[in-house]
This record gives sequence, C-alpha cells and structure tokens, in this order.
Amino acid sequence: DTLINQIAAGEVVERPASVVKELVENALDAGARRIEIDLEEGGIRLVRVRDDGGGIPPEELPLAVSRHATSKIASLDDLEAVATLGFRGEALPSIASVSRFVLASRRFDGDHGAALHVDGGRIGEVAPKAHPQGTTVEVRDLFYNVPARRKFLRAERTELGHIEEWLRSLALARPDVELRVSHNGRPARRYRGDLVSEGGGPASTDRLLETLGEEFAKHAMRVEHAGAGLRLHGWIAQPVYNRASADQQYLYVNGRAVRDRNVAHAVKQAFADVLFHGRQPAYVLFLELDPRTVDVNVHPAKHEVRFREQRLVHDFVYRTLHAALAETRA
Ligand code: ADP
Ligand code: MG
Repeated sequence: DTLINQIAAGEVVERPASVVKELVENALDAGARRIEIDLEEGGIRLVRVRDDGGGIPPEELPLAVSRHATSKIASLDDLEAVATLGFRGEALPSIASVSRFVLASRRFDGDHGAALHVDGGRIGEVAPKAHPQGTTVEVRDLFYNVPARRKFLRAERTELGHIEEWLRSLALARPDVELRVSHNGRPARRYRGDLVSEGGGPASTDRLLETLGEEFAKHAMRVEHAGAGLRLHGWIAQPVYNRASADQQYLYVNGRAVRDRNVAHAVKQAFADVLFHGRQPAYVLFLELDPRTVDVNVHPAKHEVRFREQRLVHDFVYRTLHAALAETRA
C-alpha cells in the first residue's frame, strides 16, 4: 500500500505548498476558525498545521491515514453536490507515505488526545498524547524517501513563495478564519479572522488590504451582480506592478480557488473592451452558481472546474464586468 500511496502522492503532493493546501483544507472542513502554520526551510524541513476544529477520536486516527477513508462522503449524491473542500480520502495517506508524519488530535468531546506516527508510509501505534481540542498534523522532511522527487524541490524562498501565494488566495476567500504563519521560528504573517464583510460576502476590503496591499485596495473597482442563477462579486483593477506576488488574478467558484480559462478570457475581454487593450487585469472575483452545474472533480489537486454551461457562464461574467467597468468610466 505504501507504494500505491507514493504513486498517489505524485498527483496530490508536488511541493510543500501542496501539503499546506491539503492540511489547511482539512482544518477548514473540520470547522476550524483559527489555523497556525509553522514552516521550516520553505516547508521542506517542516510543515505543521494546527487547528481548533472538531478533532479526530483516537480510534479513528489510523483510518484518517488509510487510503480512501474519507469521512466526508456518505453517498453519491453528496459527491455531486460536494460542499467540503476535500473529499477523496487520499491526501493524508499520500503525504504520510513520503514524509515523517505525525497526526495528533483531540475531539471537542474527548477527554484525552492521541497521536499517531507514520514514517514513510509505515503506520505506528496510536498513543495517548496531551492535545488541546483540534488537530495538529506535522510533516517533516518531505520526499526524504523519494530522492527523485526531492531533487525537484526549489530553494527555500521559492517554496515559501508558493505557500504564501496559496495562503493569500485562501485568505481572500475566508475573512472569517484567522491564519498565523511562522517561518524558521519567526512570525511571518497573520491574517485576522474577524474581517467578514458587511453583506456577509466572502472577502472584505480589509482583507484586500492585508493580502494585496494598499495600492490594490485603493484602486480596485467593486463588482456585484446576480441574475439567471449566477452571482459575481469582488473587485477588478489595473495590476499593481510594485508587488512581488504573482499575476494578482484570483477566481473563486463557489468559494473554491480555481483556474479557468473560460472565465479568465471573459474577464480579460471585458477589461480590454472597456478600458485597456493588451493589458491583463488584476482581480479578485467570486462566482457562485448551482453546484450541480459545475464539476469540481476534474483534477486531483482540484484547481480546475468544468461548467456544464460554459457559454452562459462566459457571457454572464463578460456582461457583468463590461457593465461595471463602463459605469465607473462614465
Ligand atoms: P479527505 O479530506 O478527502 O477526506 P484526507 O486524506 O485529507 O481525505 O483526510 C482523511 C480524513 O481524516 C478526513 O476525511 C477527516 O475525517 C480526517 N481529518 C483529516 N484532517 C483533519 C483535521 N484537521 N481535523 C479533523 N479531521 C481531519
Ligand atoms: Mg483532505
């Protein structure tokens, strides 16, 4: 099974940032409101994610690191209208097969905590361990037993950059969750957990400030429109060039950060038609639609989605942004 898990790890775990993503998404699925992320050497030496979520009972720890033992899907119906972020039951076993791994937890109603060590896929015994309510997952020495994978890891700065970029994208979508990051023993970043916007929307202007900076927050144009079962809200702006971050294009479909060429094209086209030709817009956009009209199971890492009605989505995004941009220009 270790070999199967290591092969699966090839799809799920590319680098420390993928470990952070899987662990933080699990924490969110468990209802965490506060998540601490401790990193060493860009996450290569250590990724530790500690949450205050519902926790795992001692007897279920071995299950959590076993293949396809997700607790999140009860039926095929669930699979179609999946609300949680993770649902394949292969992240923990995959990660544990290519690292020195510890899962420690205490349930909200449990009277003691417990821990389980997994070393390169070899599962140890559950042992009692003091732990506050919630879960800690520790991943040390990623790919220590898969040299062919390890040599593809980049410099500490680069790996840290990938982690920070993913966390930024998460922070934008979850202004209700506090995120604290440390790197090599020093506090590196903190996103507050009390920045839910007035309308109950996912991102607030304060969060925009925390993540993308003053320039972006100052110049961004607000977008908000609903119709035909679709809703688009967020911000669009000219890119701010004095930032180290990536392309500043954040798209969320039903709260999930995704890349989608169809939607990206619609945004770019509206931006070009109203404002600037030949320049990429910066944006933070949330698209909400009936989950049954979008397939999130396209890729194991879940960065991609497939819309049942691609044309409709494209036109809705284009028209919404075209109108919003034209109005601010007028
Ligand atoms: P999936 O998220 O697809 O279910 P994972 O391998 O990521 O699969 O996790 C396996 C299981 O372990 C989850 O279904 C959940 O029951 C449990 N689990 C993992 N992380 C946590 C956490 N931080 N808090 C509570 N339960 C967790
Ligand atoms: Mg998961």
